[in-house]
Amino acid sequence: MDEMKKGGISVETEHIFPIIKKWLYSDKDIFLRELVSNACDAVTKLKRLNSLGHISLDNENFRITVKVDKDEKTVTVSDNGIGMTEEELDKYLCNIALSGALDFIKKYEGEGENNGIIGHFGLGFYSAFMVASSVTVNTKSYTDAPAVLWECGENGEYTVSPSDKTERGTDIILHIAENEEEYLSDSKLKNIIDRYCAFMPVEIYFEGEKEDEEKKPVNDTLPLWMKNPSDCTEEEYNEFYHKVFGDFRDPLFHIHINADYPLNFKGILFFPKIGSEYESLEGQVKLYYNQVFVADNIKEVIPEFLLMLRGVIDCPELPLNVSRSYLQNSTYVSKVSKHIVKKVADKLNSLFNTEREKYEGLWNDIKIFVEYGSLKDEKFYSRIKDSIVYPLTSGKTVTLDEYLENAKEKHENTVYYCTDKVGQAQYISMLENENIEIAYLDKGLDNQFISMVEQDKKVKFYRVDSSLADALKGDGETSENEKLTELFKKVTGEKTKLRFESLKGNIPAILTVSEESRRFGEMMKLYGMGDNIPAPEDELILNTSSDTLSLLEKKYETDPEGAEKTAKQIYMLSALSQRGLSADELKEFLTLSYESINEGIK
Ligand code: ADP
Repeated sequence: MDEMKKGGISVETEHIFPIIKKWLYSDKDIFLRELVSNACDAVTKLKRLNSLGHISLDNENFRITVKVDKDEKTVTVSDNGIGMTEEELDKYLCNIALSGALDFIKKYEGEGENNGIIGHFGLGFYSAFMVASSVTVNTKSYTDAPAVLWECGENGEYTVSPSDKTERGTDIILHIAENEEEYLSDSKLKNIIDRYCAFMPVEIYFEGEKEDEEKKPVNDTLPLWMKNPSDCTEEEYNEFYHKVFGDFRDPLFHIHINADYPLNFKGILFFPKIGSEYESLEGQVKLYYNQVFVADNIKEVIPEFLLMLRGVIDCPELPLNVSRSYLQNSTYVSKVSKHIVKKVADKLNSLFNTEREKYEGLWNDIKIFVEYGSLKDEKFYSRIKDSIVYPLTSGKTVTLDEYLENAKEKHENTVYYCTDKVGQAQYISMLENENIEIAYLDKGLDNQFISMVEQDKKVKFYRVDSSLADALKGDGETSENEKLTELFKKVTGEKTKLRFESLKGNIPAILTVSEESRRFGEMMKLYGMGDNIPAPEDELILNTSSDTLSLLEKKYETDPEGAEKTAKQIYMLSALSQRGLSADELKEFLTLSYESINEGIK
């Protein structure tokens, strides 16, 4: 070709640039990912030709360079890959790809503007026009064909002319548009490369304004997930985790997934260490497509509860040129997601079965994940349910079956638990005195979780203050006492039920709160409907074997007023160790207590 040719992109594509700009508005950054991954493909294609013996290259140094020129206001992506002949350029950049892109847009136009379809998945080469007012392609094919220069303006009009490029490969030069000049900043471009190109398979060099002394590629061409798990060391996993997730702590453990045909995907998931309860539990699972970063936390591919973890999934089979709603309904995607869940469950089971002590030590950190996962995904629960453990107040940790086996004789199919070792200390010590084991459940999800376990395992969970364990019952008289009923009714109010029981020990009374009504109230609170919930049903259990009560009964005959004060004190003491006292109650309780101290001293 020895003269300049002119052409115009055909009628149907004349609208494409405004559409591209509008559609891609939400995430312009991806233009660089698209151009760099095209450059990677160009190198990969050339390597393939070489390995097939079509060409012979020796010791080639394949590389991609991203270069900024602030004076010229250009960003250039160069590769020494396969290059394009004039025909190829015409075919790929002027016709097919464009009309393909247009079809794509037409197809999904109905789905609303910023629904993230293209925002994540890109439009290839044409996304360059999101930030560039014109684009120059200077390319020389690996064949003998002459080099060509293609220049295309904002309106889709291009020129093709001979180029003096002598080296094989392609330079894509973006003339950055006036209002997009942030894309001329080193740090902006560097950030985009770090985010999207950190693991692309060809070395990428960045040439910004400041020339680095030592030139090193900015990416890692062989990421850990691509390696065979048996070739990776613990240190490598930890280092990878620190680097990718910016967490200086080591993960608790990892799962390296290497799924064969037909799923054909790889990935590493890490269980992060949760520092404190207040720390956000939001994880980060990065999705890659042939080592090209696509997006974080794509719910359509990674089951929601796994998003509490951190990790990378590289899924080259993913149909990415489609909408998210398609992903959601794809059977392939659902198989991938099921496979990931299975691998996570397998890992937990194997830790439980082979390294139980370590597993128990990790429990506090993984428990929220396991509970949340079990609630979200029945399959996951059924896979891991035998590896769910319960820490006890005694310091031991047991499975539900182990707990029930130990409890068999004293309280069949019943689990006692506490949620607050200090607040419930009175009840805990009473049960511990009778050698009853108490599970310690202290996190928010436990309520929903134990309700699920109850249904599945035919057990009943009782908080220590919600029911009177049979083991606490003594063998004394339990008949109702009319006088004491009358007296206590006066101090407890109408709603609190009274019950007479013979208890071991001399404690005059304990207050219990129905497990169901308390759980119901807690659920309502969780859903933000805490204002109108009725107080949970409570019951004051009066100990018929207590000396205090028999003395109180006598006092009631001679000094009803004094007896009422004492009864009130007893009631408040029982409430104090169950639900705590309101401000008014506390004032009254203090007054009564000082009065009785004075009585005692007289
Ligand atoms: P896609 O990459 O999805 O095929 P693009 O619009 O990004 O779509 O690119 C269209 C075609 O142009 C590519 O398939 C490739 O053949 C060609 N191409 C783009 N960039 C390069 C490059 N740097 N080197 C060689 N060929 C390229």
